[in-house]
Amino acid sequence: MDLAFDLGDRAADALGAVELHTLGRQQLATAVVRVQGIIDRFTLAHAQMVAEADRTGVWQGTGARSMADWLAGKTNTSYGSASGLLALGETADASPEVAAAVGAGEMSAATAATLHDAITTAPADADVSSLVKAVKGTGPREARAAASRWKELNSAKQETEEEREDRRYQRRSVRSAPPVDGMVSTTVTLPVLQSRQFINAISQVAGKPTEGDERTTEQRLADGLIMLCDAYAKGEVKGGRERPTVLLVFEAESYAGHTDTPARTANGDNIPASVARHLAENAVLQRVLRVGSKILDLGREARLASDDQYRALVARDGGCRWLGCHIPAAWCEIDHLQPYAAGGATDLDSMVLLCSHHHHEKHRPGVQVIGNAHSLLIRLANGTVIDCALRRAQAAA
Ligand SMILES: [Zn+2]
Repeated sequence: MDLAFDLGDRAADALGAVELHTLGRQQLATAVVRVQGIIDRFTLAHAQMVAEADRTGVWQGTGARSMADWLAGKTNTSYGSASGLLALGETADASPEVAAAVGAGEMSAATAATLHDAITTAPADADVSSLVKAVKGTGPREARAAASRWKELNSAKQETEEEREDRRYQRRSVRSAPPVDGMVSTTVTLPVLQSRQFINAISQVAGKPTEGDERTTEQRLADGLIMLCDAYAKGEVKGGRERPTVLLVFEAESYAGHTDTPARTANGDNIPASVARHLAENAVLQRVLRVGSKILDLGREARLASDDQYRALVARDGGCRWLGCHIPAAWCEIDHLQPYAAGGATDLDSMVLLCSHHHHEKHRPGVQVIGNAHSLLIRLANGTVIDCALRRAQAAA
């Protein structure tokens, strides 16, 4: 201990005795970085000493409220820097890898101190190496962000698969930064599957590069996105599984000319009866027999193949069943009220159309389904009950 103090003093003396005016520009640059590295190693040793002193309780009975309080008073430093030092010591004690990285000059003391919260509260089986590896050579700011991501990942280990999916999904976003030089950067954050769909869609729309096309891949994707948005604005985007054709739901009486009730597309547009009758001459027809909203029969050819069921659902639900939602059928997904795995049937009584958002809401942890497709209530985890009555009934109400 005495030898260490002696050597420390001599090191400080030696550094102080360097004749700075003899140093060139390059030497000065090297020196300031080098000294910081040495100070960091001293800081680490100091911090570990402080943590040990805390465990030993050197501050107890002195009137100080804590180790940091005691240290700040004794050394005339701020409470903030004293508690930072203690935090660094605790971090190094909790993770020999952090101590080694600082000792080897691979991580600054300031960076190591930001890992305190994550490392001292990590579960026993947490992969500390991955965090240490990730923050080597980064500053405190980046390290703090990495540590909080890492911490989130580790606390996630206690979650069920369902909860983890839900937590990830809640982070989806589209965020635009303020314009710079007339350009706006928009960051799209999506679950992997949806991200694939997104990129597939815009690259399909963009098409393959032709001879002499000098655009970068990024530029072509941007063009695909612009074209897709243009098409949407013009009403040319066809959603759902009926992409290549137009699906029309048409009352038999109207088809026969007894009434003029308009036909309805999967997008929810009304098509005048006369136009629908004309289209029907060249269309594939499928009979959907129903009483009120209940589908009785899908016609002879229908073998409850999923496309047939989809048509029946479009005819019955017209769009997302969630109260007040106006997403048309073409943009909806089929929801099985009871999942297959839980013994749910695939008949129409146990299937409804929901838009992507409400489909996700319905599948969130703790959500309960009450009733069937004809009389459907959804109870959210917070107790709110959503009446998902058929649209006709909603309109009447
Ligand atoms: Zn919806």
